[in-house]
Amino acid sequence: MQVDYLVVGQGLAGTVFCEHVLRSGKTVLVIDDPTLSNSSKVAAGLYNPITGRKLVKTWNCDPLFEYLIPFYRSLEEKLGQKFLVEMPIYRPFPSTEVLNEWMGKSAEASYAPYVKEIKSTPSFTDDISNDCGGLLLNKSGYVHTDKLISCYREYLKAEGLFLNDKFDHTQLIIEDGGIRYKEVSAKRIVFSDGKSVQNNPHFDWLPLRPVKGELLYIRTNAVFGVIYNKGVFVIPLSNGICKVGATYDNKNLEEAITSEAKDELVNKLKELVKFDFEVIDQKVGIRPATKDRKPFVGRHPKFSNLVIFNGLGAKGVSLAPFYAKQLLAHLEQGDELDKEVNIERFFSLF
Ligand SMILES: Cc1cc2nc3c(=O)[nH]c(=O)nc-3n(C[C@H](O)[C@H](O)[C@H](O)COP(=O)(O)OP(=O)(O)OC[C@H]3O[C@@H](n4cnc5c(N)ncnc54)[C@H](O)[C@@H]3O)c2cc1C
Repeated sequence: MQVDYLVVGQGLAGTVFCEHVLRSGKTVLVIDDPTLSNSSKVAAGLYNPITGRKLVKTWNCDPLFEYLIPFYRSLEEKLGQKFLVEMPIYRPFPSTEVLNEWMGKSAEASYAPYVKEIKSTPSFTDDISNDCGGLLLNKSGYVHTDKLISCYREYLKAEGLFLNDKFDHTQLIIEDGGIRYKEVSAKRIVFSDGKSVQNNPHFDWLPLRPVKGELLYIRTNAVFGVIYNKGVFVIPLSNGICKVGATYDNKNLEEAITSEAKDELVNKLKELVKFDFEVIDQKVGIRPATKDRKPFVGRHPKFSNLVIFNGLGAKGVSLAPFYAKQLLAHLEQGDELDKEVNIERFFSLF
């Protein structure tokens, strides 16, 4: 079999890159071993333009957020499935000073597109403590990443573009004009192997800093149509089920749920919400995060047909579409990669 691209890994990174390849009229084959660690199956899938305790615009917000909703919507159309939920995020203000700051900030041209409304009193909701009001965000929501990946896998299988297998690095032959892998020839191979990049002999020198994350599923009688976010996020799914998360742990990387994470999330949730709830499930995953919190994108320093698209950390949903498009334009037309994501920044480690 001969293809333009062989993609290793079908989490969010591999899926979104593969879709860009197909849209450009090139051919692709995807190899994935579903028994390996997959962060995308666990992710809450949030995309949030205003992040952190300091409530600032997320890195590279404008280009990322301009592209992501149209991209996921067009993918829904192609697959005939829904997995993008546009939903405001409500972030209660910690003090009246912050409320006043935001009164001014929300009128600034750079923030205005992301602010739906500033609530200056607690009258918006009785579900949570929000004595100083809060910020209701625009261009926010979540993607059912698990569903997206499984629907896309079915599509790839139906098209004969999917190999259910563990990629065996010893079988990779690098040639001048491309690569060979068993009976497959490709012009390029793209590794979107998530945290398993640590065992990838061609890219294991990159400074991955995996971060374990756990989240809870809860049941409640409270009915609301926004995502609450302070300390933890609470995403209403359906029938009173909500997702609550997430923890960040870069020390214990064992992929198993812990009672400590459950207690941490329950305590933070109790600080935020006033309604009763019952924990019904707990999930764990390992985020492929990086030393400088920017993705790993670009070509291998020695073998230009070996490419990486990884390191999406805690923000895969918002980073993947824009950087998959940029990576493909780099490989096909020689367009520049943003220097903050280009792995050239780590070539001294090779
Ligand atoms: C608890 C939690 C909450 C999160 N919440 C959010 C959120 O709200 N918003 C957000 O944007 N992000 C969130 N994330 C982060 C998100 O999951 C990641 O950014 C993203 O999913 C990473 O996708 P990926 O494709 O790079 O990696 P993965 O999803 O881990 O996929 C890697 C794939 O490579 C395959 N693979 C690896 N090696 C091989 C091999 N040798 N052969 C074959 N296949 C191989 C694996 O099987 C896997 O399918 C969260 C993560 C966690 C753990």
